[in-house]
Amino acid sequence: MKIILLGPPGAGKGTQAASIREKYGIPHISTGDIFRENVRLGSPLGVEARKYMDAGQLVPDNLVVSMVADRLEKPDCVRGFLLDGFPRTLPQAEALDSYLTSKGTVLDGVILLDVDDETVVLRLSGRRVCRACGQIYHSTFKPSRSGNRCEVCGGETYQRDDDTEKVIRNRLTVYHQQTTPLISFYKEKGILRAVDAKASSGNVMNAIESLCANRS
Ligand code: ADP
Ligand code: ZN
Repeated sequence: MKIILLGPPGAGKGTQAASIREKYGIPHISTGDIFRENVRLGSPLGVEARKYMDAGQLVPDNLVVSMVADRLEKPDCVRGFLLDGFPRTLPQAEALDSYLTSKGTVLDGVILLDVDDETVVLRLSGRRVCRACGQIYHSTFKPSRSGNRCEVCGGETYQRDDDTEKVIRNRLTVYHQQTTPLISFYKEKGILRAVDAKASSGNVMNAIESLCANRS
C-alpha cells in the first residue's frame, strides 16, 4: 500500500498514521518528525530546517524532496509506505510522481482528513507530545494521568515550539495557500478520498480498509 495522508496541521494525521502502521505493517514516514529529529541532533539539515519550522513556514522543496527520496529507498518501504506531511506543495507532489514512475509504481490513494480551522487551533494549542515515545496528549481533552510525564513510558511531555496560537494560524495560512492545490491535483487523478476528521477516527480507518479492498 502506498498512501498519502493529506490535511491541515492538527487533522490527526500522526495519530491515524500510528494505527495504520500497526495494522498494515507499513512504515509511517512523517517529514515533520524527520525534521524534528534532525533539529534535536543538530544536524546541518536540522539547523537549516529549524529556521522555517519555528516560523510555521515550509522548508524549501529541494531539501524535503531529497530527504524523502532517501527515506523511500530504505528496505522497509518495499511493501509500501504511509506518507504524512508530504507532499505539501505542487512541486513536491510532482517530484513524488516522477520518483514513483521511475520505480514503475503508483500511489494507491490519498486520504484527505477534513477539519475546520478553529478545531485545528483548539487541538494544537493544547497538544502535548511525549519526548521519548511520541505519544500524543491534549491538556484539556486528553491529559496524561501522570501529569507532565507520559502515561505509557514515563517520558517527559512537552509542547512543540510551533504549537502556539500565532504559529498555528500561520501554518494554517500556509496550508490553505500551498497545500490545498493538491486536493484538485489528486482529485483529477481519481485517487482522492475525503473523510471527515472532526468526527470519529474510525472514518479514516474505514477509508483505508476500502482502499485495500479495492486493490485485491
Ligand atoms: P503539522 O502539524 O503542521 O502538520 P509537521 O509535523 O508535519 O506539522 O511539520 C512541521 C514543520 O516541518 C512544518 O511546519 C514545516 O516547517 C516542516 N515540514 C514538514 N513537512 C514538510 C514538507 N513536506 N515540506 C516543507 N516543510 C515541511
Ligand atoms: Zn512516552
